[in-house]
Amino acid sequence: MPAIRCGLIGASVIGREWMIGAIHEAGGEIVAVMSTDPARGRAYAEEFGIALAVTSLENLFASGNDAVYMATTNERHAHATLASAEAGVHVLCEKPLATGIKDAQAMVAACEKAGVVLATNHHLRKAATHRAARDLIRAGKIGRPLSARVVHAGYLPPHLHGWRLTSAAAGAGAILDLTVHDADLLRFILDDEPVVITTLSQNGGLARPGIEDAALSLIRFRSGLLAHLFDGFTTKYVETGVEVHGSDGSLVARDCMSQTPRGTLVFRTASGEENIPLDHQNYYVRGVRAFHEAMRGKGLPAATGEDGVISLAVALAALESAKTGRLMAINPNP
Ligand code: NDP
Repeated sequence: MPAIRCGLIGASVIGREWMIGAIHEAGGEIVAVMSTDPARGRAYAEEFGIALAVTSLENLFASGNDAVYMATTNERHAHATLASAEAGVHVLCEKPLATGIKDAQAMVAACEKAGVVLATNHHLRKAATHRAARDLIRAGKIGRPLSARVVHAGYLPPHLHGWRLTSAAAGAGAILDLTVHDADLLRFILDDEPVVITTLSQNGGLARPGIEDAALSLIRFRSGLLAHLFDGFTTKYVETGVEVHGSDGSLVARDCMSQTPRGTLVFRTASGEENIPLDHQNYYVRGVRAFHEAMRGKGLPAATGEDGVISLAVALAALESAKTGRLMAINPNP
């Protein structure tokens, strides 16, 4: 089977830290990197042994790539995805899919029309903790799921103290960075859809004034389940986690909202507590494998473009709620 040839859009940190390794480990080949800065693009290509550094999409597509991995800042995802679809190239796009819902919908429509896969890189779907929780819920082990809690907070590492804290236009803030992941993850674990959200946001002094560096949200799901989410960049000593509480039992995952495969899952009922055995594997490798399979016509990517539209709709409704103080309907098709 020939290796899938990938072009990187953006000489990004996430590429450096996770995705270049994941693409290689999933059997892919990286043929080119596109950066808006020629010197940074060349240095990046040299660092990772990538044959070609380009500064335009046209030159990237001329490299003969089958797919792109999109990891530019968020406001640039839409334009480059539309161009990729036009070029007949499959797209693995970072979250949030875009900064506006119309852009995200246009990305899905363009990829569908072109017959190329659009995947959203919601890596937390591939965590063993979350997959096991989903399986137990699907098997009815906790009865009717009634409430959920997500803590997706920590301290943003200093090397990421750039656009995420300063550029509203690029989609800065904890909501577009973290709440968007929680929304997708709860949809995945619960097989349920978020309906309304209310959010309070905070500026704890890390982000530029006017940009939230933490947020607390409440979501009602279609089933009636209530979820609360705490997301933030500012707390150094917090433990992440996901809990789902049902009529007959509870699932408590700890230290699981990270990029590194780790964490524990406890299943609690009237009979006591059970530690669920987990098979931890690199989330990003699993995600790229699923993307490659989808490109070969086998199944769907871990999170589709449509999933990315919904998680973005939740994040945008959270931002609007934080701004207006209103309870917002979540509408992926406004
Ligand atoms: P970066 O900080 O690497 O910045 C993104 C883009 O900005 C780069 O692709 C690059 O584009 C440009 N850039 C990089 N360095 C500089 C610089 N020194 N000066 C000016 N511009 C620069 O972003 P991340 O890697 O943190 O995030 C990229 C995307 O990935 C985002 O959409 C983010 O939300 C997502 N992400 C997803 C994660 C996940 O787990 N799914 C985790 C982390 C991020 P160019 O080379 O074209 O100039």
